[in-house]
Amino acid sequence: MASGIYVHIPYCLQRCPYCDFATYKFDETIPVEKYLNALHNEVQTRASEVPFRELDTIYFGGGTPSLLEPSQLSEIISQITRQGFKIKPDAEVTLEINPGTISENKIKNFMSLGINRFSVGAQTLSDRLLKLIGRKHSANDTLETLRQLKAANVNFSVDVLFALPTQTLNDLSLDLETVLSFSPPHISPYYLTIPTGHPLQINRPSENTELEMFELMTTKLVSRGYEQYEISNFALPGRHSRHNCLYWRDDSYWGIGLSAHSYFNSPGWGQRFWNPKTMEGYIEQVPKYSIKTLPEGQLEKLSKSESLTDFCHTFLRTMNGIPKGAVRRKFGENCEALVAARLTNLLPSGLVGETNSHWQLSASGRLLSNQVFSHILFTSECIDYNLSSDGR
Ligand code: SF4
Repeated sequence: MASGIYVHIPYCLQRCPYCDFATYKFDETIPVEKYLNALHNEVQTRASEVPFRELDTIYFGGGTPSLLEPSQLSEIISQITRQGFKIKPDAEVTLEINPGTISENKIKNFMSLGINRFSVGAQTLSDRLLKLIGRKHSANDTLETLRQLKAANVNFSVDVLFALPTQTLNDLSLDLETVLSFSPPHISPYYLTIPTGHPLQINRPSENTELEMFELMTTKLVSRGYEQYEISNFALPGRHSRHNCLYWRDDSYWGIGLSAHSYFNSPGWGQRFWNPKTMEGYIEQVPKYSIKTLPEGQLEKLSKSESLTDFCHTFLRTMNGIPKGAVRRKFGENCEALVAARLTNLLPSGLVGETNSHWQLSASGRLLSNQVFSHILFTSECIDYNLSSDGR
């Protein structure tokens, strides 16, 4: 079993109008140093409750963590190791960076701290669309960042947004071609999610065009040697995001910082917990609560049925799908039979497929994954009815 730490850095150059993350414009919240003090405090006071010490991955996300100085990042890493965490020699350590916030020198300095993977928030290479969605950086900033990463000969990933207002299939195709010209080891296409009624909903592509966009990306990336190893993640062989895989393979991760979510796969059927979404709430809570005393609504001990549902949904997101043996090992034979029955019912729809060892989404199932997930929901009653004898 692998394990890792996620660190949330909530500062950005601007607040993008579509952003749903817990982020702040630099000058509209507390100074960075004060936030980092709270982060250090959180690591120090809660580390003893974390059930793992070996780290396969660390992921600095945000926000725009590349706005931090390398010395500030170095302090966070030191604080983590001071609490007894051991970063494995081959650990994947990722830093999210936004174009326009990085230089060749800064990349080198980050790499000297052990950062060995960068995730670039390119979004689109069209200046017109960048402006439309309120991003400050330009296409040239992105090209410059990608050139710098290539020159540094380091592992990197590129985020590409699709279904933007007025975006055409041709716009998206051009974006992908430009990104592909840098041969990034990893590409994550993201559907632009915007609340109903938001001004950015105007002139969005039709549902059909959105589906065509997803198909265009899949076809293009797969034809260039990328594996769609998760619904919206593509990687060259062996270059998948090990940190993201923690989320889809029932591995434990500890999320620190504002709004960060955590999951421990034991004891019992596992637990999830999360930090407040507002800076005030986070700063106030850190010194007051250990993990186990977090206020109601921020800590969930999973029941067997919730754990089984999560297990199936997350594994199904991956190309390999649900390993049948793993369901049996964690939940018992009756649950394996229950999962098999649900998925067998879906076989005629063509949305799922089966091999000797796995249940998987088909190509059409990946497009309509929510439809599949709505059939794979388990309750305590249905588990009891299936006469589970495993009473963990
Ligand atoms: S840069 Fe990214 S994280 Fe920051 S506000 Fe914009 S979308 Fe949100």
